[in-house]
Amino acid sequence: TKESPYLSVNNIEVIYDHVILVLKGVSLQVPRGGIVALMGGNGAGKSTTLKAISTLLRGERGDVTKGSVMFDGQRIDHLTPNALVQRGLSQVMEGRHCFAHLTIEENLLTGAYTRRLSRRGLQDALDKVYHYFPRLRERRGSQAGYTSGGEQQMCAIGRSLMAQPSMILLDEPSMGLAPQIVEEIFEIVRDLNSKENVSFLLAEQNTTVALRYADFGYILENGRVVMEGEAAALASNEDVKEFYLGVS
Ligand code: ATP
Repeated sequence: TKESPYLSVNNIEVIYDHVILVLKGVSLQVPRGGIVALMGGNGAGKSTTLKAISTLLRGERGDVTKGSVMFDGQRIDHLTPNALVQRGLSQVMEGRHCFAHLTIEENLLTGAYTRRLSRRGLQDALDKVYHYFPRLRERRGSQAGYTSGGEQQMCAIGRSLMAQPSMILLDEPSMGLAPQIVEEIFEIVRDLNSKENVSFLLAEQNTTVALRYADFGYILENGRVVMEGEAAALASNEDVKEFYLGVS
């Protein structure tokens, strides 16, 4: 028997500012414990898809005008982002968004605000983040604004982990980072997936890296899914090779 998907996006349409049709019927699934990559060029609609799922779109004058989103067996499109975090679904926004004037540790602590934790509970949550991101432990007293781009990306992921998510929507984790830092971050994603059973839906323009770490992938073009498949099959597909690999 086939297990129903953990996250399921069903034929969603998104319109910005009441007129601009950006997603034209996108469907995708993430199984429990999966790493799924959403790929495609600039403006294809990757961020919009993630924000439609996390309902953060509402803050940007975007509306889901058709379709539905199911998470863990329930419809979630009417919920607030906070309610979703409480149910285990967190988004790490593109561009990292750490508070520049707070220290790394203070940033991490802001991620626990949806949980009622004792001092001890908070310390345990921090220790877990530091276990996966030893660099953050080293830099915990530094103001985030003075840390490197890679450390800020780690801080953003670490902060979302403080809420104990079962699924993370990760937008463009490789953006602007040197190749070896990108590998480091994707290795941690793989670790969190295999050891903490966190599922991931990641939006990535870097198709080469995304297909190396994901199990399954979707390619978006102009607001539509134009290709989908097992990561290994996509990586060896001639069209994917020609149009998406070796480009970034
Ligand atoms: P990128 O990697 O550049 O973020 P993307 O695949 O994530 O690309 P989106 O950011 O989802 O693409 O953008 C998809 C389309 O929607 C683009 O044409 C973009 O200009 C448009 N768009 C995005 N945000 C808004 C907004 N707030 N209002 C109007 N149009 C928007």
